[in-house]
Amino acid sequence: SPRIGVLALQGDFREHRRVLAELGAVTVAVRRSSELDEIDGLVIPGGESTVMDKLSRSFGLSEPLKQKIAEGLPVYGTCAGLIMLSREILDGAEGQQSLGGLDIAVRRNAFGSQLDSFETDLDIPALGEHPLHAVFIRAPVVESVGEGVSVLAALEDGRVVAVEQGNLLGTSFHPEVTSDHRFHDYFLQKVRGHIHA
Ligand code: GLN
Repeated sequence: SPRIGVLALQGDFREHRRVLAELGAVTVAVRRSSELDEIDGLVIPGGESTVMDKLSRSFGLSEPLKQKIAEGLPVYGTCAGLIMLSREILDGAEGQQSLGGLDIAVRRNAFGSQLDSFETDLDIPALGEHPLHAVFIRAPVVESVGEGVSVLAALEDGRVVAVEQGNLLGTSFHPEVTSDHRFHDYFLQKVRGHIHA
């Protein structure tokens, strides 16, 4: 079974590990760069992207992570993880950096304080015909996508909330907190495809 790292500096990495384990993956909590050499794919969890950014730089993980992304390691980012994978952060904190990889611009906390958190059903053709129940928590929105980026899901008003580009996958929402594991399953299929390529 594939070995999936979960970046475990901050955020809801435990929930991701539980879902991945339920799907039969071996999970590895990633806190140091040497652990990146032992994995077939990586999940960057939800949490607080400003903190995750600072910790990944002070743990010396940021440059090795960028290198692995450039080499084609499959990576799935949820919420703060999606922000970490974005080329450009709108409304970022002072000095906030991202790893990049996805040719998108995201806006942090895009739903504002009025609608901090909400749940909705999304049509995601890549996952089949049943809508996916999606939980948004102080979520970012994808405001622009480059040519190589596929949009996997959007809200009814057209705002983009799930994208894929090459080996990278990102969602504004948190499939790790619901019982529908199709997004993690989709990611594991990408990882298996990459292992066998
Ligand atoms: N608002 C958070 C950030 O900017 C993301 C929230 C989340 O991951 N649930 O990083």
